[in-house]
Amino acid sequence: KQTYEIAVFPGDGIGPEVIDATLTVLQACQERYGLSLNYTTHDFSAELYRRTGKKITAADMDEIGEQADAVLFGAMGLPEVRGPEGLELGAQVEMRAHYGLLASLRPVRLFDGVEGPLKDENVDMLVIREISEGMFAGLADKHEPSDETATDRMTITRATCEKLFDVAFSQARARRKRGTPGRVTLLHKSNALRSNVLMEKVFDEVAAKNKDVDSQKFYIDVGSMYMVTDPQRYDVIVSENIFGDITSEIAAGLGGGLGIAPSADVSLTHGVFQPSHGSAPDIAGQGIANPIAMILSAAMMLEWLGEQHDDDRCTDVAQRIQAAVETVLANGPWAKDLGGDAGTQEVADAVTAALAGK
Ligand code: NAD
Repeated sequence: KQTYEIAVFPGDGIGPEVIDATLTVLQACQERYGLSLNYTTHDFSAELYRRTGKKITAADMDEIGEQADAVLFGAMGLPEVRGPEGLELGAQVEMRAHYGLLASLRPVRLFDGVEGPLKDENVDMLVIREISEGMFAGLADKHEPSDETATDRMTITRATCEKLFDVAFSQARARRKRGTPGRVTLLHKSNALRSNVLMEKVFDEVAAKNKDVDSQKFYIDVGSMYMVTDPQRYDVIVSENIFGDITSEIAAGLGGGLGIAPSADVSLTHGVFQPSHGSAPDIAGQGIANPIAMILSAAMMLEWLGEQHDDDRCTDVAQRIQAAVETVLANGPWAKDLGGDAGTQEVADAVTAALAGK
């Protein structure tokens, strides 16, 4: 395939800032390594909804899904902009349902040059968050707002678990090639939640079919503690939607913070690539957001395109970007969240310059 079509959603707050910076890095890759990407920008955002009432529709997502090879997403949502049910607007949640996205892959590694809260620990884990059901399963339910009672629903299906755990074991196998132990851990709550009893049962079945990869299980409560007290226990962590939402941010914290934590929401056919962070209204408009989470998410997109289309060129550029990010994290300049004073574009320019060394 010659040119990949990328749907770009800058979104709200720092979303457009980190997207703009990331596109300059991709532009350099296009010029140097013969990569060809064509962008279509979509202006959906909480801010657009506030001004015009316009939000993404199923027809929009059909058209985008048809036309684009991947979605590159900044961040969406503003705490004060709410829909009729009192929930925030965020096209990322609607895209998960519409495209049948199943797993959010959130790799975290404590890079040289970055100080995490556990100074001497080697943190290297991949949190895989289930994103199609779990505690978010009831989002599409009919709901009359009430001041007295409100209910959410946690539902887990065998079909989703089987696909999710297949992803987890194959990711553990792929990571093992670069020296990780190859171990999948289920974090769950089968002592108290029916849905998690089924999840654990399916996990055991899938683990039995993947005996070449170690597996273990912890209750989510003690498992969260181990993430902080003994992160070496973990390689790939897999978890239900809300548990994964929380554990992936614990992991991000261990790896030096949200500013450098990428993510990829994928199905077999669709992928949405976005930083783990949100729109960060507290620092928006100042040009100080760290673009590295977004840049690494773009590298995950290229890696995924490479696998989908059997295109080594994409995989090669993904690796170049990852290596350039490692160089910048080790030597600076660092953005404010990592203790430096470099602005968003300055960090992106340093990544581009580090690419040039390759
Ligand atoms: P957040 O991730 O936006 O910010 C949390 C903290 O991390 C803030 O102090 C912020 O300044 C800091 N931070 C985040 N990204 C950073 C970066 N790149 N560089 C430096 N510092 C960074 O989370 P929040 O404040 O809880 O949420 C803000 C809004 O974002 C909410 O409306 C929320 O719903 C939305 N949100 C969107 C997504 C998404 O688009 N996928 C994800 C999470 C939150």
